[in-house]
Amino acid sequence: MKKIVVSLFAVCLVITVQAQKMSLQGLSAEEKKVMEYIDANMPRAIALLKESVDINSGSLNISGVKKVGEIFAREFEKAGFKTEWVPMPASVKRAGHLVATKGFNSNNPSKGKKLFLIGHLDTVFEPDMPANPFTMLNDSTATGQGVNDMKGGDVVTIIALQALAQQGLINNANIIAYFTGDEERGGEPREIARGDFIARAQKTDIALGFEGANGLNSVATARRGASHWRLEVTAKTGHSSGVFTSLAGYGAIYEAARIVNEFREQLSHEKYLTFNPGVFIGGSEMSYSESKASGSAIGKTNIISPATTVTGDLRFLTEEQKNNAREKMKAIVSKNLPGTKANIIFEDGIPSMAPTPGNDKVLSVIDQVTKDMGVGGTVAGDPGSRGAGDISYIAAYVDCIDGLGASGRGAHAPGETINLKELPFLIKRAALTIYRLSK
Ligand SMILES: [Zn+2]
Repeated sequence: MKKIVVSLFAVCLVITVQAQKMSLQGLSAEEKKVMEYIDANMPRAIALLKESVDINSGSLNISGVKKVGEIFAREFEKAGFKTEWVPMPASVKRAGHLVATKGFNSNNPSKGKKLFLIGHLDTVFEPDMPANPFTMLNDSTATGQGVNDMKGGDVVTIIALQALAQQGLINNANIIAYFTGDEERGGEPREIARGDFIARAQKTDIALGFEGANGLNSVATARRGASHWRLEVTAKTGHSSGVFTSLAGYGAIYEAARIVNEFREQLSHEKYLTFNPGVFIGGSEMSYSESKASGSAIGKTNIISPATTVTGDLRFLTEEQKNNAREKMKAIVSKNLPGTKANIIFEDGIPSMAPTPGNDKVLSVIDQVTKDMGVGGTVAGDPGSRGAGDISYIAAYVDCIDGLGASGRGAHAPGETINLKELPFLIKRAALTIYRLSK
């Protein structure tokens, strides 16, 4: 206990130093009060982070996810939000989602934008993995399960809202904060797991995602989407001595290899497009189980392979890019070597968050926020550096910005860390962004 007190004291010192670095010249009097509130409440922010991190909430740990939801619901209520739990049917095998709402009354006079703030309660760490309780590694770095991805981002959202509520700056705002319980391992079918999420987002104008921040001067205006493909090749079989003749043909393995290699040759130079074969399995007798992502093969070097299966992903920045890539891949698949037949099946996963003029408009508000805070402007980060996320499900309906959460290292890996030196700045940036958009 003593150690924690010392550590929190050290963090406060660092935070004071950080606050002094910012000039805050461009801020209004009430905005400066918000900054002061955040500085004064950093020990509480870190205590809240510790409280939530020390409860395991792997996506499959239903009771753990709900417990973290209760903690954050308590904090949203302190900021004057109404909270509710959106349950999932038992068949989905996920906890459900926390929704906190302010405003949305028919007689609300606000002319500000309606906001949709996105967090998630779950982490990639299930209870059977080694525990990693919240620990200060030095005066400005802490580790713990989900400390960065994304309980840190959840805390950024909550403390920012509490700071604004405290100053009476969101009394008339229309804000929905939606913390999903299964971002890391989404429940199926997605229509059920994300149906309510999408429906509520459609009532708003702008979505702000609090996934990990990439430095102080960059946010995500676009994220790539993810999808899947499965290539099935069948071929005439026979003695290997006849391979390459028109009678015996080339076999399924050569044909699958040709196709995958041509994918790489023709499509690998396209910006933001990637595709990776994850399983490549062929032989004389071959079986593959999609649900287990595993298979077996028996073959002899003197038998031409009659069957090969390849499965892979396909990541893209826009629907157009995805569809064009699929057309090119289909054309490659159709040019079969003698004695072979090939078929490719595409399956949608998570849509992309495409870059749009609307997203850039929100970026310009954040750019002004960081300039007014005296830390320089904000630019759009590289969309290639981010995977798909919950915000992508609604990118077709509202303007979106992601990467407004905590900063740190090693998300999804044991020992992930949060940068506590940057945390107060990120909470302030979030508060000012929410205030200026919603007022
Ligand atoms: Zn995340």
